[in-house]
Amino acid sequence: MINNLIDLHTHSTASDGTFSPAQLAEYAYKKGLRAIALTDHDTVDGIYEFSQRCFSLGIEPIAGVEISARYKCEMHIVGLFIDTKNKDFCQNLNALKNARLIRNEKMLKLLEENGMHITAEDLLRQKENASLKNIGRPHIARAMVEHGYVHDIKEAFDKYIAHGECCYVKRLTYSPEESIQLIKSAGGIAILAHPIYITDDEQKLFDILKELKGFGLDGVECFYSTYTEAFSKLCIRLCKRLELIPSGGSDFHGSNKQDIDLGCVNISYDVLKNMKQYMANKVL
Ligand code: AMP
Ligand code: ZN
Ligand code: FE
Ligand code: FE
Repeated sequence: MINNLIDLHTHSTASDGTFSPAQLAEYAYKKGLRAIALTDHDTVDGIYEFSQRCFSLGIEPIAGVEISARYKCEMHIVGLFIDTKNKDFCQNLNALKNARLIRNEKMLKLLEENGMHITAEDLLRQKENASLKNIGRPHIARAMVEHGYVHDIKEAFDKYIAHGECCYVKRLTYSPEESIQLIKSAGGIAILAHPIYITDDEQKLFDILKELKGFGLDGVECFYSTYTEAFSKLCIRLCKRLELIPSGGSDFHGSNKQDIDLGCVNISYDVLKNMKQYMANKVL
């Protein structure tokens, strides 16, 4: 039965989730979600398959993306209501994908130099429609576990492939301003994803959001799987102060993030209604 809940932050095999886009739609149906956004990292390749399956199941799909912007470690900007056919947008995402291919090859070489032999095939067999352009560090970590080089994914990151470790290679990223502009160039709205990973300090977050709003940021994830209620309220307060819109989602990745289930954050359809109202007012 369809309830009144939504999830506006999810991943599929088009990036580093373990559910195919169609399977994700089917799982959303099973969970009774009324609307769901697919927000794969740096790609919209899963959107068509996802939307078709959502429509056939009577669920409202939202075309999204999650762009990893360059900022200290990283800052993630979620784009919602993206025109996935926008040429400029697709070209910019293609540049990220091509850079990923080169980066993955470099990482495999570094692993080899550190005594770990992992082939491209070890990575590509992990998901449907895999290519070195859409493989990420979680896939590399999984192959390292399968070969017995590390005990688990956490150890793979901590010892070898986390930012700054010996087998880490930087990849092409856009600045927060470029990422927001990119989303807006494709008609989308830009949402700061999980600010909890940046800071939990209200004043610091206020300053960051104010600057991002200057670049065109529209909203903030106020509901997220790892938030406390207090942090959720802090985000809502900041949205009110800065006239930003609240968004939210689970960040579901299937078995690549085992403790996060689809729809695990209670987010009412009213959040989406409010977002649509905001978009309509902007057009007027
Ligand atoms: P990539 O886009 O290839 O750089 O991979 C980034 C993804 O790796 C993130 O979305 C996380 O899912 C995962 N990740 C990053 N750092 C860690 C970590 N320390 N432990 C586990 N997973 C991580
Ligand atoms: Zn991810
Ligand atoms: Fe993220
Ligand atoms: Fe995410």
